[in-house]
Amino acid sequence: MSDLKTLGQTGLEALEQTLVTRYEGFREQELALDMTRGKPSVRQLNLSNAMLEYPGVTDYTADDGTDCRNYGGLTGIPKMKKLFADLLEVTPEQVVVGGNSSLTMMHDALVRACLFGVPGGEGPWVHQGPLKFLCPSPGYDRHFAITEHLGFELIAIDMTDSGPDMQQVTAAVSEDPSVKGIWCVPKYSNPTGVTYSEEVVQALAGMQIAAPDFRIIWDNAYAEHYFSDKPDELANIYAACVEAGNEDRVLMFASTSKMSLAGSGVAALAASPTNIEDALKHLAVQTIGPDKLNQLRHARFFGGIGGLRAHMRQHAELIKPKFDLVHDVLYEELDGKDIATWTKPNGGYFVSLDVWDGCAKQVIQLAADIGVNLTNAGAPFPYGKDPHDHNIRIAPTFPRREEIKLSMEVIAVCIQLVAVRQLLGKSHNSQDAD
Ligand code: PLP
Repeated sequence: MSDLKTLGQTGLEALEQTLVTRYEGFREQELALDMTRGKPSVRQLNLSNAMLEYPGVTDYTADDGTDCRNYGGLTGIPKMKKLFADLLEVTPEQVVVGGNSSLTMMHDALVRACLFGVPGGEGPWVHQGPLKFLCPSPGYDRHFAITEHLGFELIAIDMTDSGPDMQQVTAAVSEDPSVKGIWCVPKYSNPTGVTYSEEVVQALAGMQIAAPDFRIIWDNAYAEHYFSDKPDELANIYAACVEAGNEDRVLMFASTSKMSLAGSGVAALAASPTNIEDALKHLAVQTIGPDKLNQLRHARFFGGIGGLRAHMRQHAELIKPKFDLVHDVLYEELDGKDIATWTKPNGGYFVSLDVWDGCAKQVIQLAADIGVNLTNAGAPFPYGKDPHDHNIRIAPTFPRREEIKLSMEVIAVCIQLVAVRQLLGKSHNSQDAD
């Protein structure tokens, strides 16, 4: 297919007409398709239905004799501590297993830092003046929302193919002690699918930082979510921090939300002994203990990291064809036209699609007008503003395959329509419309 820019006026007008006919054909179908949030599909959830049989009515005792029905067990039951330790490559003593949401645990860790400070710091962050947080973008909107909500200034850092742009990161942290942390989704990142390179992990662990109480929020949400033949390899950030003499620098998080039941998974925090001791001091005031029956349910269902990985192979079998479909439709419709690029990740939950600068909002609006809902333009950027208005996040896991195919065809038609009209001088830059 030829580059649109090489078509003359007549060619572009003819193409516009074809696209309008297709667009109106889609409108007539009265579509109601949702490609917005990265949720597991019903079939993925069904993979964990057997878990609901556990722990059963007679055996609710953990390996260490804990009666999981009762209060207590602040750091979690042994088997879940071991499971998360294996997942995050630390020791079980470094793990606190919590409730169902890692996002809650990240939020709470930052609230604690704001109110009480962190080990190695100079007291509560809220007493240290206006503060900043680094946000590799495109990234996870809910991360950015937490730090915006807590009053941090959000500093956008470009994402590269190997992780955050480390030149920008080091320039931001090296002399400014008000920069207190960075959000990281290090494996199959949300939404680009990038896994941080060894160099990036080492640089994050070893870089010179002006703030003595800087924290890397290492959200390894997609640690086991691969669907290629070969999983990406991620270097061990904690080992790298220890090696660099900065073992308190990183707080690691994970959950089973997208492995078992998204609303009823189990989440965990892992960190240095000093950070864990500090967290427990506060957690002991916050709660008498987490939901250990749900932990036991998970421990029995997965058995251990081997069982969890086998389970994730079943997820991959459901997810991979959907990602392939997204790629195939985009390739079929857009290859060679020079109007869009998209990621083809090895794992995770998203495809990141870039269109011409100034066009993403228009594409998303055109698709919404005929019943295909996409994540709001700009959502993966700090303050919900994509500086180039070019990024579109595609979340293919939840819809059925026929819905994905149709949605992607609609999106591809909208991308082409916006591009053709731009070349014909018929559209205005949507950023100007703000
Ligand atoms: N972290 C990332 C990067 C995510 O994409 C998501 C959900 O989409 C979460 C965390 C939410 O995790 P949880 O369900 O454990 O709160």
